Amino acid sequence: MKIYFNQKINNLNFNSKRNDLYKDFLPIKPSIPTDVYISNQQNSIDLAIKQLENLEFYKSDVEKLKKLGINLIFKNGKKAVDFAKQSKIPIVFDKVDKDDIHAQWVDARKTIVINERYKDTNNLAEIYAISAAILHELSHAKDNDGYSSIQEELECLGMNALAFNVYKTQHPNLFNKGISPIIDDGVGLYTELFLGNDKKALMDRIKLKYGNLLLESPNHSAGAFAKEIKPQ
Ligand SMILES: [Zn+2]
Repeated sequence: MKIYFNQKINNLNFNSKRNDLYKDFLPIKPSIPTDVYISNQQNSIDLAIKQLENLEFYKSDVEKLKKLGINLIFKNGKKAVDFAKQSKIPIVFDKVDKDDIHAQWVDARKTIVINERYKDTNNLAEIYAISAAILHELSHAKDNDGYSSIQEELECLGMNALAFNVYKTQHPNLFNKGISPIIDDGVGLYTELFLGNDKKALMDRIKLKYGNLLLESPNHSAGAFAKEIKPQ
């Protein structure tokens, strides 16, 4: 099922059938305390967007990124959500090009697709991770072209690192390892790499995942770090 959040905002009964099935809480991994699971009252994408809407980045994190030549695409989460609403960008769970992709901007459909493996999750940690991933994909959407580049990925990954670091700091016990690949191999990993101190590890990861891309794309001129990753 595809969920278009512009419609969903006015249709809070959308999940009423599912709510009947899963009253209150649904602990799918009983070994983890139940307070990491949220009530299935609302769609997980709506909840992820709601978190984004209230998000302000830490200034010290923003400064760290600037030192890598990474500038902000959105000043805060609200700017990103406003852009999504104005542009009427659908955010849906669906098939992605490869199963190890957690989320992607599909320019041909002007749609943000979240890997359907996370469909309707009620795991709060995953919902925060989806929220950070949505910010990454909105950052791709913002330039309104189908191109990407090493610099563009640095900026989009930087955005999701800024977001997830706030969530991590606000919920220090929520994001243990092993909860979800979207955290361990996605937004959690990039938060450690971008905001930690192991620059070589960050460089190696970007080379591995994005090394085949061009250095820069329209509206994303290469900064010093991108040039270090892929010397011309
Ligand atoms: Zn990307």
